[in-house]
Amino acid sequence: MFNNKAKSRRPLQRQQPMQRSTRPLGRVALAGGGLSSSATHPFARSAENSRLFAYEQQVKQAFARIEPVLKSLSAMQHESDFEAQAQRFVSSELGFELPAALLADSWIKQLDISQIYAWCVFETFRKMSDDFFDTKPLADDDDAEFQEFLEQCGFHTLDVSPCADGRLAHVIRYVLRLPYKSVRRKSYAGAMFDVEDSLQKWSETEMRRHREGQPNSADAATRYLKVAVYHHSSSQPDGEGCAAHGSDTQRAADAALERLKDFRQGVENSFCCGASIDLLLIGLDTDNDVIRLHLPDADGEIDAMSYVDAAELHQATRSASAANAEAVIGEYLQAKCHSLPSEGMVRLAARLLCGNLSQIDYVRQYHNGCYQDIGHQECFIGMGIGFEEVQLRNLTYFAYLKTVEEGAKDMDVGIKIFTGLNANRGLPIPVVIRYDYHGHVPGARVRAVARCHQLDTALRNRFSEYEERGLLHTLLMVRDCSNDAKAETIGSSLKLNKQVAH
Ligand SMILES: [Zn+2]
Repeated sequence: MFNNKAKSRRPLQRQQPMQRSTRPLGRVALAGGGLSSSATHPFARSAENSRLFAYEQQVKQAFARIEPVLKSLSAMQHESDFEAQAQRFVSSELGFELPAALLADSWIKQLDISQIYAWCVFETFRKMSDDFFDTKPLADDDDAEFQEFLEQCGFHTLDVSPCADGRLAHVIRYVLRLPYKSVRRKSYAGAMFDVEDSLQKWSETEMRRHREGQPNSADAATRYLKVAVYHHSSSQPDGEGCAAHGSDTQRAADAALERLKDFRQGVENSFCCGASIDLLLIGLDTDNDVIRLHLPDADGEIDAMSYVDAAELHQATRSASAANAEAVIGEYLQAKCHSLPSEGMVRLAARLLCGNLSQIDYVRQYHNGCYQDIGHQECFIGMGIGFEEVQLRNLTYFAYLKTVEEGAKDMDVGIKIFTGLNANRGLPIPVVIRYDYHGHVPGARVRAVARCHQLDTALRNRFSEYEERGLLHTLLMVRDCSNDAKAETIGSSLKLNKQVAH
């Protein structure tokens, strides 16, 4: 399909056991802004890159400071006036105080660093979450423009399922530079999205088009576009690829494509009148955020073995004029494709690739061309439904699920990752349980709260050995997503007094 097949395709990676990464002291070490590539790509949006980096650095460093601060705290626990000293120290370093209950009686017993650690992770997340909804640091003014563009390309909904791996959590806002509010994101281990859930979303979308004319009228000739994003690691393909597919890149691509086809077949078999959807498969190199775009051909079919490589495009367009970036990329695609997809798909692909060129420059400029944390370095597991505020790389392992049973595979992968990151070092696994609800539906909040508690109980039952060893801590939150509200804390596993309880 594409004439760059031979040169851009990497040899297939065979299955290997997942490699554990040991979290370095102080967590994520961020690059200090060193440049590995002096020249900026003409299509790169430097001002946006700078804004995105400032936000990434602010949040990641807030989490990275926790461990060194707790080490110092641990060392000072037998000093006189410890409690007051500790509060001053933690407050100046982390921006919040610790619950008094966690510091009490330190002269007679060991500090419970495990609980303090979980508190700090949860508090840092709560601050980040509040800030996200208050100040909208990653907002894009172009939401309406993007929807219009999408419809011009022949699509009314963009529904993306990346792998649940935290190294893909920034795929919408950073890697593809899309407005996160205009794109549906639902992550699954190995990008193995739930076909029934997608079918339900498709039906809901088509119903809204019929009933409300939203996002566009049902008679408009547009389609639902489903995208799956698998991933690999170019520097450590056998160890730092997708855990859900044994770090086997081709297996990850094939499986994601199969799932896409199942969804399309599901729509076609369930609804008459030529109902169908369009598909797109994307591969992400988690070392440097370079994407591979597996475009459909003229018949809508995708080949998991061939793709357009954004790194090659980056190189090929280094001297191009910035005046008409997407048109230049469109021409590049037309030259590359043996069988062109629809004109709209080519336009959308050009936009995605153009966004990715900015991200490639971003990684080159701020992370020396390759992230230091190429392996797992997530700080917590996000479980349930929601997490719009998590748009950053390697911060959160997602487990989108309504019940622990249905999401068992995703949770197992998450706990396995955090066993290597935290539990093996004696640190607890922090899990934020979240349930977003629509406030205009009567009783929705009550049901969301009940769901959170059910998930909490089921999680503890499934991973009881962690629970018994004090290696599992949870924070429970709900959020009314229909009025863009902040998330609300409704409970926590931390045993604290009333004044400071979450
Ligand atoms: Zn994965």
